[in-house]
Amino acid sequence: MRSCGTIRFFADYHTHTTYSDGRGTPAENIQAASLKGLEVLAITDHGPKNIGTGVASPDTFLAIKEEVAELAGRFPAVKVLVGAEAAVTGRDGRLELPDHIIDQLDLLIAGLHPYYLPDSLGDALHFTLPNLVVRLNRSVWAKMRNTNTKALVGAVHHYPVSFTSHPGLMMPVDLDELARACAVRETSLEVNTGHNYNKEEIVHAAARWGAKLVVNSDAHFPATVGNLDEGSALLERLNFPAEMVINAVH
Ligand SMILES: [Zn+2]
Ligand SMILES: [Zn+2]
Repeated sequence: MRSCGTIRFFADYHTHTTYSDGRGTPAENIQAASLKGLEVLAITDHGPKNIGTGVASPDTFLAIKEEVAELAGRFPAVKVLVGAEAAVTGRDGRLELPDHIIDQLDLLIAGLHPYYLPDSLGDALHFTLPNLVVRLNRSVWAKMRNTNTKALVGAVHHYPVSFTSHPGLMMPVDLDELARACAVRETSLEVNTGHNYNKEEIVHAAARWGAKLVVNSDAHFPATVGNLDEGSALLERLNFPAEMVINAVH
């Protein structure tokens, strides 16, 4: 069990493998989770519309499920879930995966990512491309913060989203609006230890609106699976209750 102070985690619900842009195979990630004492590991590769980093096709998630099923028994102490980190590809909150694939996943992550194939010309002009230059211009930043928030909240309302990955990383989002929607839908907000961004604001927004959090590694290497100590230190410093963290032991 990973521990740092009083908040400990039994699960890491966000890791990548060689099926997308991770460096480890599913077996290597599961072995790493086992060595770190995690009880639950989720394998959550990027969807197919992420340019250069996604799985080959939506059906790849079914192949990952088959591979993980074949590995069952090799690491009996770890329960393995197979999910997807799906990009929000439409301004209305549309995700990049079809419903029949989503229905077969153990968990669904929705996240804003800058580099993906947009669904339409309108989305390209008003969502994908402006987000690439969002840091260069203050008025673009404010406009895209509004567009991004609507898109992510739309995804939370329209899909069975377990949690939203790294909200606020690279693409601006109104965290209060998001936390309010997440609280209603019982969707968590992620504190992602694999990236540097303003995680404190996520914790504050979740606390203000009564939303739950999840702390994940977003590991792209087996060595970083279960590296969650930064998250427990942050939650303890801000006095966020472990009962409101879906992968915390309490
Ligand atoms: Zn991500
Ligand atoms: Zn990720």
